[in-house]
Amino acid sequence: MILKPIVSVAGKNGPYLNVIEALKQLDISFLKGKRILIKPNVGRIAPPESGYNTNPDAVAAIIDSLRKVGVATIAIGESPIVGVDTFEAFKRAGFTKMAAKYNVELIDFNSKPPVKVQIPDPRILTETKICQQIYDFDFLISVPVTKTHMHTGVTLGIKNFKGCLYRHEKVRYHQLEYLKKVYPEKTLDSAISDLATVLFPDMVVVDGYIGMEGLGPSGGEPVKSDFAVASFNAMGADVIACKLMGLNAKDVPHLNIISERNKLALEVDEYNVPTEGYERFIHQYNKPPTKISVQFPGVEVQDKDSCSSCLSTLMMFLKRFGEDMSQYALSDGKFHIAIGKGLEKAKVGTVFVGNCTRHMKYKGIHVKGCPPVPTRIYEAIVHHEPDKNEESI
Ligand code: SF4
Repeated sequence: MILKPIVSVAGKNGPYLNVIEALKQLDISFLKGKRILIKPNVGRIAPPESGYNTNPDAVAAIIDSLRKVGVATIAIGESPIVGVDTFEAFKRAGFTKMAAKYNVELIDFNSKPPVKVQIPDPRILTETKICQQIYDFDFLISVPVTKTHMHTGVTLGIKNFKGCLYRHEKVRYHQLEYLKKVYPEKTLDSAISDLATVLFPDMVVVDGYIGMEGLGPSGGEPVKSDFAVASFNAMGADVIACKLMGLNAKDVPHLNIISERNKLALEVDEYNVPTEGYERFIHQYNKPPTKISVQFPGVEVQDKDSCSSCLSTLMMFLKRFGEDMSQYALSDGKFHIAIGKGLEKAKVGTVFVGNCTRHMKYKGIHVKGCPPVPTRIYEAIVHHEPDKNEESI
């Protein structure tokens, strides 16, 4: 008889106790003496419980559980989104304080040169740059926070390992449209599946205490779902976490591709969830809307051939500063902002975001960067001094 991989679930007790309970249902004793790396999702500068980042209490519960079995060392590492300082993100997310209390090292993955890894039998990427510190450890635990994702459907345990890519390599995954495609899916999904062939979590612990729904990973709303999922089978953890978010893993393209390539089941029934009646922890997450303007009335977004990292940045910017932008509305009463290398026409006074739009800069405000961080867009707008001739261009 083939035993189904175990995926444990716990809920309704907050981030710390949920994880403690979920880990109790797994035998982690074999980790004794191992060097453990915990990779949470701390990609953005945001406070705990805002839905952006993994809750530090969930990670504290993992540390306590691991120490009980006598692991050799534990460290926590991250390479956040481009433009974000790793230690600033750790500090704001509550990790600096937690790590000091637990005497655990925090690692900035971007602080050392990366390792270039060849992808055997690639779908789109022949090689990728992975942060070198990852190879100093015996066992890798991915600890995502539950989020819907406007480009990838969800971001959970497997996708969270994109934060092991070195600096701008993460952005490159969003910019592969120029490569010759053999497969029908989005190039981003192909690239994530290529990464999963060379770097895959040994274990996933999902923090579903407060996640993000809607326009995640940056522009959505926090949602309290109060559960945790843990498994040595990363796909199993993602499949069950999807179910607890009211979603179906079969609708998530990167999980589909990885399931096929790595021979991992995508069906809920293929996993053994020992938690009786675990379905009571299901909390329906809103999916990302298909049109940005629905979410931000009063804003006119032009997007011609942008890559998804610029789109994510734009979402973050609008989410954070969108309401303030009404004072910069043009004659039609709307604030105009544009991204993408294919832009040809735009209203005078438009804000052009990213290096790709530099050819349009004479028409309005241009914000350099690939992509620029949201605060840089904001500063460029508020400090812009209109040219006397601007209206006549
Ligand atoms: S500027 Fe924006 S759209 Fe252009 S390559 Fe950079 S991230 Fe992509």
